[in-house]
Amino acid sequence: MDYMKWSREKLIERIDELTLLSAQLLRERNQESRLDYDWTGNLGHWYWNIKTNSVTFNPLKVTTLGYELPEDGSPVPYQFFTEKLHPDDYEPTMNAMRDHLSGTIHVYEVEYRIQAVDGTWHWFYDRGKITENDSEGKPLFLAGIVFDITEKKKTEEALKKENNILAERSTTDGLTGLKNHRSSIEHLRSVIHIGRYSGKPVSLAMLDLDHFKKINDKHGHLFGDTVLEEVSAIIKKAIRATDLAGRYGGEEFILVFENTSIDTAHEICERIRAGVEAFPFPDSVKVTLSGGVCEYRGESITEFIEAADSNLYQAKRTGRNRIV
Ligand code: GH3
Ligand code: MG
Ligand code: MG
Repeated sequence: MDYMKWSREKLIERIDELTLLSAQLLRERNQESRLDYDWTGNLGHWYWNIKTNSVTFNPLKVTTLGYELPEDGSPVPYQFFTEKLHPDDYEPTMNAMRDHLSGTIHVYEVEYRIQAVDGTWHWFYDRGKITENDSEGKPLFLAGIVFDITEKKKTEEALKKENNILAERSTTDGLTGLKNHRSSIEHLRSVIHIGRYSGKPVSLAMLDLDHFKKINDKHGHLFGDTVLEEVSAIIKKAIRATDLAGRYGGEEFILVFENTSIDTAHEICERIRAGVEAFPFPDSVKVTLSGGVCEYRGESITEFIEAADSNLYQAKRTGRNRIV
């Protein structure tokens, strides 16, 4: 910087600015309790002089993002970073700073993404506070630290994805992709609970394949598995988004219908029954199922399931391939 060409006012301003900065640096040097802040490439200090809007920071924050530092050594304004902020992070970051400057929050603390030259997004954790006010109490100077947390975020995201997959897997039946026994019962319990308060009807159905043992015995267990998969696909297609279909046990399915009368539930089950009966299984094998439907009447969950089971038993006794 060629100070010879500067006006007296500008020079005074520059001296003030440097005085503030060196006071801050000195303060930090003297704070023995502070951690060793040597640049490891993921941590940097920053200092912001509000009046002159000059930001002093570790230049690695610029160069690790692939940008060039100004050749004449002139300071980079904070806008250099804010204009590269991820659109989703812009408002929260600005709000955090605004809230801190206005005294609403004690420290400025945010996580945000900045776009690198190559278009990728780098995550930063940024934390700072006002260290100097003017005589009227207006903020003059801020100091803070910033970490590059991109790697940490990546790990977090991968873990989250894995968690979701595991959570999904733990509630799903592996063969059919329907809900498993445990999560079906949990769902039924919560639907009953809601039904009790809302007064809206809850219906339940139990479906069971007819003479499935014979199908297995005659065509093999693998064929039986295929049948279970096909029947599950027919069930999935027949139910609505608010209904739940689960594999209750071997060749037995449970359907939970939220906010649904027994008539509607019966219709849906009848559609499933007809769909299975008409499905062209290999070798023209005929598959049918029976079902029992009932509507919730305030009984316990066990009694509710028993009521559906008892109707299913009735369907079996009266000739199978029917919904009772
Ligand atoms: P019903 O009409 O009275 O229900 O007769 P069923 O033969 O279907 O009933 P049963 O309970 O006697 O037999 C059920 C059969 O379902 C026996 C079992 O081997 C078969 N099964 C249970 N789970 C599976 C499975 O995951 N895959 C295959 N292939 N078969 C299964
Ligand atoms: Mg059966
Ligand atoms: Mg059975």
